[in-house]
Amino acid sequence: METGEPGSAGTALLIAAHPDDAEFGAGGTVACWVREGWRVVYVICTHGEQGTHDLHADLGALAQLREQEQRAAAGVLGVAEVSFLGYPDGQVEPTLELRRDLTREIRRYRPARVICPSPLRLLDSSALRRNHPDHMAVGAAALAAIYPTASSPHLFPELLAAGFEPWIVSEIYVNESHEADVIVDIAETLDQKIAALREHASQVSPELEPRIREGARRFGEPHSLAAAEGFRLIRLS
Ligand SMILES: [Zn+2]
Repeated sequence: METGEPGSAGTALLIAAHPDDAEFGAGGTVACWVREGWRVVYVICTHGEQGTHDLHADLGALAQLREQEQRAAAGVLGVAEVSFLGYPDGQVEPTLELRRDLTREIRRYRPARVICPSPLRLLDSSALRRNHPDHMAVGAAALAAIYPTASSPHLFPELLAAGFEPWIVSEIYVNESHEADVIVDIAETLDQKIAALREHASQVSPELEPRIREGARRFGEPHSLAAAEGFRLIRLS
């Protein structure tokens, strides 16, 4: 099974629902970790083919385009590998099938750290995007895949039979800026985050850059940082 060698610091796996979620939520952090020697890999659950308001859009073509955009954005950040699970955009549920697929990817890459979305709905009008049902579904499935499934040899025995051995993740970084307890200084990588977001040209507008800069600045300000991203950290070992 080819999984690539971990970086000098280890392997970090980012699990997201859609192309561009990774860069919006954690692009600066991913770039920092790559600089620190982490091998970062992405698993994206859908191709984001619903990312259009055009009634006549070719959704198959958009899916292909968004995969290309995601690979280009990941390249800007130094991400080693990107894979797609191919679930239908806008209809993701935290099913056993999704949990099994994510368990397989966790066992394949054997990451010390996982970044995933939050499974919780925030009752806050500013959290519209964060509350996308696909994000919450992927968050729930990812957390269930990390514990107990990835480390339990007798759950989904077909995975073990295929050579995917049990694995224990050490740290989960839940993408969560509202109640973050880990604040990552991204001042050095904010330009890289913005450059990566620009690769999602089918989704982002020219007004993106000032909005992203202001968001990172506002988030960093209470922590005396010029720019920051935040996560809820769960330590498992
Ligand atoms: Zn999304």
